[in-house]
Amino acid sequence: MAVIKPMIRSNICINAHPVGCARDTENQIEFAKKQKTNKGIKSAKEGGYAPKNVLVLGCSTGYGLSSRITAAFEYGADTIGVSFEKEPTVTKGGTPGFYNNKAFDRAAAKAGLKATTFNMDAFSDECRQAVIDEAKKWGVKFDLIVYSLASPVRTDPDTKIMYKSVIKPVGKPYGGWAIDMITEKLSKLEAQPAEGDDIANTVKVMGGEDWERWIKMLSEADVIAEGCKSVAYSYIGPKYSQPVYRDGTIGAAKKDLEARAKVIDASLKKIGGGAWVSVNKALVTRSSSVIPIIMLYLGCLFKVQKAAGTHEGCKEQMDRLFRERLYRDDKTVPTDSEGRIRIDDLELDPAIQSELDKHMEAINESNVLEHIDIEGIRKDFLNINGFAVDGVDYEKEITDMTAID
Ligand code: NAD
Repeated sequence: MAVIKPMIRSNICINAHPVGCARDTENQIEFAKKQKTNKGIKSAKEGGYAPKNVLVLGCSTGYGLSSRITAAFEYGADTIGVSFEKEPTVTKGGTPGFYNNKAFDRAAAKAGLKATTFNMDAFSDECRQAVIDEAKKWGVKFDLIVYSLASPVRTDPDTKIMYKSVIKPVGKPYGGWAIDMITEKLSKLEAQPAEGDDIANTVKVMGGEDWERWIKMLSEADVIAEGCKSVAYSYIGPKYSQPVYRDGTIGAAKKDLEARAKVIDASLKKIGGGAWVSVNKALVTRSSSVIPIIMLYLGCLFKVQKAAGTHEGCKEQMDRLFRERLYRDDKTVPTDSEGRIRIDDLELDPAIQSELDKHMEAINESNVLEHIDIEGIRKDFLNINGFAVDGVDYEKEITDMTAID
């Protein structure tokens, strides 16, 4: 029996609160249900323009979890989700996504929505086959496939070689401020430039090869419906993070993803569908919190966007992706000149970025807290690990680490 407190060092949280994770997921579900009512969204069964059978790869946290919640609870879809999470035992905790999935599955069953969640390596062909078998068992074809995997490693299913992705600048080192969310101290972090096969390996893990393989295998198995849409997520970001993000190793992978979107788009167009990369907003995640400059930038961004009334989290982003991009009444999908969906528009709004510049340029070790929304980024960081979630009694002893109540 124990009371569970967050174990955090250098912006890394190594444990999760089961009840807090579940409650955070349920809060997101409530938001999606409210959006359905407030915006008058109709599911396909209710005669609306909406997906019926959705596959979400990377369904347990971040953008993937919000995509699945939006598809199910705002648009009424049955969903199959895939993620790779550590399962708990009665005495040993699991990773946050395990508890999020459990809460999702329970809420879906209660709402009469079909849902199957696979805890498998989505990069493997065995996983693809398990998803195909499940779709056939259900007797359905997918009309929306969301690709939201974020992983440090990928084993190539053909060669069985394991590749590692890294977040590094290219050409020269990159020094940037890092803010420790707990001690509130600012320090300089330096990321060393990519070397050897770093770029190629990162492309192998986070590029579009695996997304293409999914679409190919699902298509060959005839589980893709006419008019099927597929979307994968990318990031561009502001000038501050260009050297370590867009122009770095991960940016090379994102460019590969964007190029392969065009190939996938061509194959889905033949059946009346399409594929897009959606460029999303920067958010606090387990990986973004350890990249130099990103957390400081996010702290500034939260402050400026909250003041302007345009702040969004995962759930608001995914609601907008579905309502204002993928499932519009006029059935068009608005994109930029490169064919990408842009829901980072509010983040990159010139007025927001110029206000943000004033803060970023004025920051030093002694005044940093005046320029960033430290409580905001800290709460989001704690929330993704199930801590500081409103309405959870954190003094209550947990006797079973597998339970979410
Ligand atoms: P996340 O870490 O919250 O979620 C990643 C998901 O992938 C989890 O469900 C995890 O279980 C799953 N996963 C990882 N390896 C897997 C494997 N081998 N098999 C099955 N599942 C696996 O990440 P996120 O921040 O939501 O990122 C999702 C996508 O959105 C990424 O492409 C990311 O680049 C993009 N994106 C993120 C941000 C941001 O600020 N976080 C901004 C724009 C775009």
